[in-house]
Amino acid sequence: MIPVGFEYAKAKSVKDALNALALGDCKLVAGGHSLLPMMKFRLAQPAKLVDIGGLEELKGIEAKGRGVRIGAGTTYRGLLDSALIKEKYPLIIEATNGIGDTQVRNRGTIGGGLAHADPASDMPAVMLALGATMNLRSKTGKRSVEAKDFFQSAFVTAMRDDELLYDIVLPAPPKKAGMAYVSFEQKASGYAIAAAAAVVTKSRKTITAVTLTLTGVGERSYIAEVPDVVGTHGEDGELDAALSAVADSQIVNSDIHATAEYRAHLARVAAKRAIQAALGRAG
Ligand SMILES: Cc1cc2nc3c(=O)[nH]c(=O)nc-3n(C[C@H](O)[C@H](O)[C@H](O)COP(=O)(O)OP(=O)(O)OC[C@H]3O[C@@H](n4cnc5c(N)ncnc54)[C@H](O)[C@@H]3O)c2cc1C
Repeated sequence: MIPVGFEYAKAKSVKDALNALALGDCKLVAGGHSLLPMMKFRLAQPAKLVDIGGLEELKGIEAKGRGVRIGAGTTYRGLLDSALIKEKYPLIIEATNGIGDTQVRNRGTIGGGLAHADPASDMPAVMLALGATMNLRSKTGKRSVEAKDFFQSAFVTAMRDDELLYDIVLPAPPKKAGMAYVSFEQKASGYAIAAAAAVVTKSRKTITAVTLTLTGVGERSYIAEVPDVVGTHGEDGELDAALSAVADSQIVNSDIHATAEYRAHLARVAAKRAIQAALGRAG
């Protein structure tokens, strides 16, 4: 398919991009891996594309307090190559390794993935599990939105049309936490049919805290409340009971890859495996 005609401009700065957004009927393009397919299918028909892919200001990963700041224009490859991310947030590495193929990881950006908010994408669940904050900018100001309020429904976020995702800030992970990402993915693309991210702390062999998030299941990635996991030893039987309702808050997707019933089953299995793997890694 061929997209409808559009104007194209390369932003020279973030300010330049924000000015263009303020005029309306304009889309940012970073790596183009989600936007260009949407345009080719004519699901998106912006009059103007403003290319932010070359803006160094939007790239990079650095320590911020005891956490980390990630520029929205950082590619998945940038995440995988970062010693800071490897050391503090191995969950990001585990999930990113499963995203698409080498080309997608080399060109696709974390900001583009989060802004696109595909219900089957991996990074929203990871950001929810790590308690990320999204820092947004527009011509008229700046504001921050927590990940739990950012992803609203399929392809819809809390961002306004005139806003740009500037960076993502992650707090320090809980001390000695174990983290894991388990995805039942579509073999062709890597997108999640159902996937779970878990961050777990323990005392001796007992789970003392858990954050569990899921993606691919419903219309958006979400935090699953699983209070009965705390106090268990993460044994199969204990978790089967504690995770039985993990997809119940969602209208579970049904498509050519999985019926709703099967997808809900995969969600429970992914959640159990992620918690058990995270428990095994907790210090
Ligand atoms: C073959 C293939 C396989 C894939 N497999 C997976 C997978 O396994 N798991 C997965 O999670 N994803 C997968 N993806 C999706 C991929 O993660 C996204 O396409 C990519 O992250 C989008 O980033 P981008 O820089 O290319 O964004 P673009 O396509 O340039 O932009 C996407 C959207 O985000 C907006 N945008 C971009 N940057 C910003 C910003 N800084 N602020 C505000 N809005 C912005 C754009 O306007 C557009 O609406 C796959 C994609 C392809 C093509």
